[in-house]
Amino acid sequence: MAAGRLCTGCGVCAYLAPDEVRMVDVLDHGRRPLPITPVRTGTAASAAGPSAAGSSGAATALGCCPGAGLRHESSRPAPGEIAELRPAWGPVRAVWEGYAADPAIRYAGSSGGVATALAGYCLTGEGMAGVLHIGARADVPYLNETRLSRSPAELLANAGSRYAPASPCDRLDLVEQADGPCVFVGKPCDVAAVRMARRLRPELDRRLGLTVAIFCAGTPTTRGTLEMLDRLGVDDPAKLESVHYRGNGWPGEARARLTDDPPERRRELSYAESWGDILQKHRQWRCYLCPDHTGEFADVAVGDPWYRPTGDDPGQSLVLARTERGVRLVEAAIAAGVLVLTPVAPTILPASQPNLLGARGAVWGRVATLRLAGLPAPRFRHLPMAGIWWRHLSLAEKLRSTVGTLRRIGRKRLREPATLAPYQPPEPRAGSAAAQTTGRPLSK
Ligand SMILES: Cc1cc2nc3c(=O)[nH]c(=O)nc-3n(C[C@H](O)[C@H](O)[C@H](O)COP(=O)(O)OP(=O)(O)OC[C@H]3O[C@@H](n4cnc5c(N)ncnc54)[C@H](O)[C@@H]3O)c2cc1C
Repeated sequence: MAAGRLCTGCGVCAYLAPDEVRMVDVLDHGRRPLPITPVRTGTAASAAGPSAAGSSGAATALGCCPGAGLRHESSRPAPGEIAELRPAWGPVRAVWEGYAADPAIRYAGSSGGVATALAGYCLTGEGMAGVLHIGARADVPYLNETRLSRSPAELLANAGSRYAPASPCDRLDLVEQADGPCVFVGKPCDVAAVRMARRLRPELDRRLGLTVAIFCAGTPTTRGTLEMLDRLGVDDPAKLESVHYRGNGWPGEARARLTDDPPERRRELSYAESWGDILQKHRQWRCYLCPDHTGEFADVAVGDPWYRPTGDDPGQSLVLARTERGVRLVEAAIAAGVLVLTPVAPTILPASQPNLLGARGAVWGRVATLRLAGLPAPRFRHLPMAGIWWRHLSLAEKLRSTVGTLRRIGRKRLREPATLAPYQPPEPRAGSAAAQTTGRPLSK
């Protein structure tokens, strides 16, 4: 899966087969599973993760791999779902817009801080035990690690989108062993992996109190972050104290701080400069083959209401409840005064994310072209795409999704197995503030 570039980097294989697989950062690919012990044939890359054939853990992991495929039970709306949204956006029961009532969360959050505030409400108002999500590594702030946050303060410290590889499923064991139900926050592929894994693991299933997906157009690689840091004037990433991709307003600036920066020094790029000019060009290949950008397998999904003007707005989120549990917990958080949300018409979803609709259509062209070329492609069931390709893509876009894919096969060398060497970040210099950091990453 990883060598064939279909890995999303979610880390579910490291949770399901912890004695066989560990997640590492690979500079030009993302978080990838590598075997812990050498296997009989092939390189580390060709044996990585679920493709480590023969072992039962790896075979189980392959069955829960969102990179291999995604599947709904049906493409028809269930009672209570919004029928008009089902074909292109998956199951949706309610749509709101709004923000976290706590201004600090709203400001720090990526859009309106809803993911953080809702998770916090689950801790304080519903008695849940923890929130499994990701945050910046204390020792290398431009890499991510998985965390089980147990307090609103910890949640706030990890608010905001990190447009960099993250594998929140690699520590699902922390949820399984928690002393009460937990929230899981991740990208759509991460949540899809959780949905598959909980079917196999009754303890995990029992302890998942809520799943929250953040909308996602694709994960940029660590190479993308390093290019962004370079543009921010960071000549030595080992001196980095912090990096933020968004937040502090909506959408907010990408920001970096070095340990020896004077207090007044500002290193900032607009969202258009950071995401538009740099990061989105570094998205991992599997993201180009993803039909689920809005978290169809989650209880609640949160994204940006891009149809609104941003400017001085301190933050707005678009919120979808996809399950009855999601409806109940969002309504409870509104009633508790934690979320300030207004119900909006279903049409606000496509109006907010026109690019994601086009992206889903293009996936059909790309997957069909890969199959014709004899290359591996994910399998999707009950996630309609062909109609979107036909009706919503212009002729130029249709050609880009097919002929363009043929070109990419050559340019990205998709016929060759990926070389997956773990990325070793440069050591912080002795004596620097970064070198004093003792935080130990949870990720295995
Ligand atoms: C790679 C990426 C691409 C995105 N693309 C889109 C898009 O196309 N359209 C859109 O509307 N929104 C997109 N988003 C999501 C959007 O930026 C916001 O995260 C979302 O609206 C939630 O905002 P919030 O303020 O409610 O979340 P917050 O309150 O800021 O909470 C964000 C939560 O997400 C978790 N998180 C942050 N980064 C990651 C990550 N890389 N992997 C897993 N979990 C993470 C954090 O741990 C935190 O719990 C993207 C996010 C990412 C990370």
